[in-house]
Amino acid sequence: MTTKESTYSKPMNRRPKGRFYARRKVCSFCVGDGDSKDKNPIKIDYKNVDVLRKYVSDRYKIETKRKTGTCSKCQRSLATAIKRARFLALIPYTPNHKGTYTGTR
Ligand SMILES: [Zn+2]
Repeated sequence: MTTKESTYSKPMNRRPKGRFYARRKVCSFCVGDGDSKDKNPIKIDYKNVDVLRKYVSDRYKIETKRKTGTCSKCQRSLATAIKRARFLALIPYTPNHKGTYTGTR
């Protein structure tokens, strides 16, 4: 006689398979971008618009660190840099601001 019921229980709260399933990313500002050959950590600078634009959404909102994998420390300085760049009109505040920056949409 064997008992069918096993005491095996799945851990339910592991990897919720949500919409934004993302692998564990490392902070590209601390470690360095995988794309770059030198693997130097990217410097967070408000003048570095090309980098900052990767961290804003298509509606020019700052992306969450959950999505980008940026660590808390860099996310804070990144947000400051983006806000600074917005103020200097390097990055638009909204997509409605036409003509301020002739970048790709
Ligand atoms: Zn970092």
